Amino acid sequence: MQGTVYIVGAGPGDPDLLTIRALRLLESADVVVHDRLVSETVMALVPAGVICIPVGKSSGRHSVPQAEINQILAELASNHRLIVRLKGGDPFVFGRGSEEALFLKERGIAFEIVPGITAALACTAYAGVPLTHRGISRGFRVVTGHLKEDGELDLNWQSLADPETTLVIYMGLASVDRMAAHLIAAGLSASTPAMAIQDGSTLEQHVVKATLASLAARVRMENIQPPAILVIGETVALADELNWFAPQTEYEDESMAVWAGR
Ligand code: SAH
Repeated sequence: MQGTVYIVGAGPGDPDLLTIRALRLLESADVVVHDRLVSETVMALVPAGVICIPVGKSSGRHSVPQAEINQILAELASNHRLIVRLKGGDPFVFGRGSEEALFLKERGIAFEIVPGITAALACTAYAGVPLTHRGISRGFRVVTGHLKEDGELDLNWQSLADPETTLVIYMGLASVDRMAAHLIAAGLSASTPAMAIQDGSTLEQHVVKATLASLAARVRMENIQPPAILVIGETVALADELNWFAPQTEYEDESMAVWAGR
């Protein structure tokens, strides 16, 4: 038997943000190989009896190296029909989904890609920050703040310091000081609105508002932890008007809470 590996985006955490295709695949999967970023509420949708293999870091346990994950997928494909490789957000945005797909392709194993809502889209939407807005932001960029092994950040600061583009940084908590300093040095105003969003779209969502100059200090003061994105740009100021998501809201009327899906 030769199965198919579906490389599926699970979205940012709120299970309502899964695609219908992702949900259908989870419901008919033989095996689910999942990352740490995939929320418990999403994993709760996997029917009882389906084999679930965690391969991401969790407290005290090391993550499975990428080469080993590739190997696991290939082996599963040789004795199962439908394998779901479930990843946080979108599998092709800082998700290594393409590396896994290339590995499968080389071995002649069938695969499909199912997009998911990436953190940059979901977290900003739930924090009330539009990535583009007529007259304010003409586009957006996503970059990783992950440091190289020598501890350096290898980004083109000149091109990133554009006041008409919203910048979203994944994995940027460890480098937030350097990031901000580089952007200011490259000419982006120190007073540019900036934000950190932790656990976006979930009931634990934690949003910190700042300016580019104060972002690093605010992130530390509020003890922001991964997973979190940083958002820098003029549209961040619109969150004052648009922040509709209130996960901690106590609804007076039970039917209202049901309607809001919480
Ligand atoms: N493939 C994922 C990204 C994986 S890299 C996607 O498309 O979203 C992991 C990084 O994603 C985290 O360090 C964080 O920067 C970001 N991230 C993912 N989910 C998040 C969430 N719910 N809230 C805030 N940041 C998130």
